[in-house]
Amino acid sequence: MEKIDPVLYSIEENQFLIEHLGEPPLVALRSLPPTVNPRAVTPVLEEIYSLEQLREHRGEEWAGVDAVKASLKRYVEEALKWQNDKRRGRVRFPSMHIFDTKGRPHRGGPGSDSGRVKSYFDAQGERKEFALELSGEVEDVWKAPTQADAPKSGIKLNDELNRWECFCGWTSSFNPDSRSSQNAARARMSKHLRTATDQVEVHREIHTNEFGGAN
Ligand SMILES: [Zn+2]
Repeated sequence: MEKIDPVLYSIEENQFLIEHLGEPPLVALRSLPPTVNPRAVTPVLEEIYSLEQLREHRGEEWAGVDAVKASLKRYVEEALKWQNDKRRGRVRFPSMHIFDTKGRPHRGGPGSDSGRVKSYFDAQGERKEFALELSGEVEDVWKAPTQADAPKSGIKLNDELNRWECFCGWTSSFNPDSRSSQNAARARMSKHLRTATDQVEVHREIHTNEFGGAN
């Protein structure tokens, strides 16, 4: 288990985990409510308990019980909020949509969650993942841009090398003295973003943000 993803569990299961994570699994399972499936929560209790044991006895750091509980609580709060919003006529799962400038939701737009909910919007309107990495060192490791941060870091203009650079390593060079060469390089980048075959979703989202969906 590399990540804990609260979305995979019911609200009751999340609430049970918030209360009992960090306890020895056999102890925690004694207070299992009838609405909670032991097969769903046992692997999580076991994983978290063993991570805690490794930290105590061998000093191996990891994200920590508090961080996991915070992640589960955030999901429960959001999920309950969505249920209320739904009753007031709003979309059931906001992060499965993108919102246009008038605030209208479009299901399945670029960068939105597909298939199932994976993210939520924080107070600043930024898309954030619910899932939490359990390893303690993840913060320092370079990660490929996620759908959430791709728009900001997706492509950049390298003035020294006179080329456009995509996050995936693809580049498009131009002659700095020629306007048409610069335009052509930008057009090639646009085409690359539309036709890249790896990390397709991320490329598409960058394309939408940079080129507004036009060719
Ligand atoms: Zn690329």
